[in-house]
Amino acid sequence: MSGMTPSAASLYDRVQRVIPAIEWPVFSDDIDAILRLKRERNAVILAHNYQTPEIFHCVADIVGDSLALARKAMEVEADVIVLAGVHFMAETAKLLNPSKTVLIPDMGAGCSLADSITPEDIRLLRQRYPGVPVVTYVNTSAAVKAESDICCTSGNAKAVVESLGVPRVLMLPDEYLAQNIAAQTDVEIIAWKGHCEVHERFTPEDIREMRAAHPGVTVLAHPECPPEVVAEADFAGSTAAMSDYVGREKPARVVLVTECSMSDNVAVDHPDVEFIRPCNLCPHMKLITLGNIRSALERNQHAVTIDPAVAERARLAVERMLAV
Ligand code: SF4
Repeated sequence: MSGMTPSAASLYDRVQRVIPAIEWPVFSDDIDAILRLKRERNAVILAHNYQTPEIFHCVADIVGDSLALARKAMEVEADVIVLAGVHFMAETAKLLNPSKTVLIPDMGAGCSLADSITPEDIRLLRQRYPGVPVVTYVNTSAAVKAESDICCTSGNAKAVVESLGVPRVLMLPDEYLAQNIAAQTDVEIIAWKGHCEVHERFTPEDIREMRAAHPGVTVLAHPECPPEVVAEADFAGSTAAMSDYVGREKPARVVLVTECSMSDNVAVDHPDVEFIRPCNLCPHMKLITLGNIRSALERNQHAVTIDPAVAERARLAVERMLAV
């Protein structure tokens, strides 16, 4: 394929099951422009699993959950990284690539979990629980990571908690993730009161109604859902674990109890699986569009910066996680 450049026209086949033909002309001009700009600027696009299919399947170079993006961000050789995701993900990419330009197409792409806790909150918790290590979910600002002992994702939280070899940890800021992990380990977990605004809306009744309406459906839930929802599911795991489950078990019918775009993105690779799609959108993830990815590359905006003293401590917390 060397020398051959993909074009929007050649990419449509891949996404035709999830993007109606009538919508495609709206995207194709931006896709061609982004593919050209990536070459001109030696840029790569990292896209989270919750990005829409025209981003995820047509312009992204690296896709995955928070952990995969953090890991793969360390191996990137390009000059410019565009993070198609939310602000804390762009900060994590910058922490691991301090010399590269990291762009986020919309500075307003935040996260209800990241907004639920401040560095000052952690300093107060440390006074209240002296000597108890602080495990912080990656869905937090760099300033919060800098106050933490180690980071975790929904995919590795249990392993991270148990790696510390202590009887008790603070696990912040997602209360439900903390409760779901507490159910799987002997380590005592002290939680914070943060919630993901997408996953907290699912209820056990939703799951029961889906099972009644779609007999035989396999239910996969994200561990940011309340424990009562996870209890109704057949399997709980990170977005990467859900995607692996579908590939491995090939359920005839499945529902992914998580953000809407995830089902579209996984469905592209599994034409034989019927996806039931309850839809809870993340309004922050949906601020990222082909249009603002194109503008980001054209205008070099918006560059992510982190105070070097904060970055150094935050990077340590991320690197400790990656070493587990
Ligand atoms: S889906 Fe939830 S955790 Fe993820 S960015 Fe949106 S609000 Fe934050």
